[in-house]
Amino acid sequence: MAVYEYVCSNCKKQFEVRRSIHESNKVTACPSCGKQAQKMVSVFSAKIPEIMDIQGEKISVSSKIYT
Ligand SMILES: [Zn+2]
Repeated sequence: MAVYEYVCSNCKKQFEVRRSIHESNKVTACPSCGKQAQKMVSVFSAKIPEIMDIQGEKISVSSKIYT
């Protein structure tokens, strides 16, 4: 699993969602107001700069931290 950061386009709330990389482009609803939130891609890549398996399942750094 990886952690993605989102920001709500409606109320500007920021929150994190844990999901597999295959689901990273799914729409996520804001936990505060229920509106659609936007993924903050740059934050995730800045935290974990190097190891991301293109094939999907194995994300070495994040899985050690977040599971
Ligand atoms: Zn919201």
